[in-house]
Amino acid sequence: MGAVRERFNPASTVVSKRPRTFYIETFGCQMNVHDSEKVAGVLMARGLRSVENDQDADLILYNTCSIREKAAQKVYSRLGAFRKGGRGSGTIIGVLGCVAQQEGERIFERAPQVSLICGSASYPRLADLLGQIEAGNRRVAGLSLATDECFETELTRRDNPFRAYVTVIEGCDQRCAFCVVPTTRGAERNRSSQRILADCQRLVEEGFSEIQLLGQIVNHWTDPSPARLSFAELLSRVAEIPGVRRVRFATSHPRHFTPEIVKAIESHPALCDQIHLPVQSGSSQVLARMRRGYTREEYLEKINCVRGARRAISISTDVIVGFCGETLEDFEQTVSLLDVVGYDQVFSFKYSRRPNTAAAGFEDSVPEEEKGRRLAVLQEHQRQIQLRRNGELVGRKFEVLVESFQPRLQQAVGRTTSNRVINFPGEPEWIGRYMDVRVTAAGPNSLVGVQTS
Ligand code: SAM
Repeated sequence: MGAVRERFNPASTVVSKRPRTFYIETFGCQMNVHDSEKVAGVLMARGLRSVENDQDADLILYNTCSIREKAAQKVYSRLGAFRKGGRGSGTIIGVLGCVAQQEGERIFERAPQVSLICGSASYPRLADLLGQIEAGNRRVAGLSLATDECFETELTRRDNPFRAYVTVIEGCDQRCAFCVVPTTRGAERNRSSQRILADCQRLVEEGFSEIQLLGQIVNHWTDPSPARLSFAELLSRVAEIPGVRRVRFATSHPRHFTPEIVKAIESHPALCDQIHLPVQSGSSQVLARMRRGYTREEYLEKINCVRGARRAISISTDVIVGFCGETLEDFEQTVSLLDVVGYDQVFSFKYSRRPNTAAAGFEDSVPEEEKGRRLAVLQEHQRQIQLRRNGELVGRKFEVLVESFQPRLQQAVGRTTSNRVINFPGEPEWIGRYMDVRVTAAGPNSLVGVQTS
């Protein structure tokens, strides 16, 4: 956080002036990134101006993540640093998102400089809560989970110039034993197909060519409108909008993953060759304790369906190591699953016990050091798989969307539809263009290439 600040004085932090500028710091998943874009939209619609750093902001919001303990601790360290920095009177501090929901009004006790706490299920009330602050209320909280409303905004700030996020479903009803999301984001709320398609249409008109549909369990989306589209039909309809060049979706749950989704990808070139299908463990015993609702064999059936598609689809996953009761044999089954599937990318985490989850009542039996060892083994194993898989792509040609430019290396950074990054000699003006690139070299996490068109 910043350098020179006013001295913090709790007694003087009576909020009296109307904030004119705001700064949001976002932690965690894409859902949070997009929530922040919508929160920014709400603030901008109230006349507030977004600023690039917290020093210039009258209102500072932390949009938080509590999926693992470390993520949740981050916000308290931010608030502590803020307090030490001595910034105080007049600046309004808010904590949004999953930590806000999980910690509730305890945040006011631990961090008295905070004026606003709001869980994501209460975002539809955000404008009202801000109004209360402007009216002089020192502490306001939106913590109810009892809602069937989605967070709809007139205005949404878009932080990525090419890829636009569109929420299709909020909340989660799965109740996986390890996961805090159902208690921090509330029950599932679905947006109608008309709203989703109208959003996508408008985004294309605004110049976005890539749409990413979002939901904690995106493929559990159920159309509440009379059209009753299935998720696969929704994907097809979005892909058919003229001007949409790429459609991605995250995160899918294996339990709700259907062959129709694969068929939709086969028939629509705009649906990206990429599926993120979190497995969490390769052991059916652990999966049962996690309450994931599928076995290793059932998961592999879904993978076979994806691998049987007419065009190659890259597959990524999430894995938790060291879940309660995970034996060495269980862990080895997870490592062997990496070989069987041949994932293109794996996001792996040490199990972290979370409050209000079923697993909070289980014995967290794998010592921290052993969790770390297993994580390192798994990550090295996957690194070798990626090195091999990416090596097989040398000599092939891919279309990339150029997303950025590295001036030091004079390289353009492009992304394939299969979500691989290719660096190649280029120009800053290429940002935003679709270009063909031939792969000349491969590392475990990215490729190197030359432009061919
Ligand atoms: N909703 C998605 C699902 O169920 O597959 C994923 C949501 S979560 C934001 C992303 C990943 O964090 C999960 O897939 C899981 O691997 C990991 N995760 C969730 N809870 C965890 C916990 N208690 N400890 C460690 N990792 C966790």
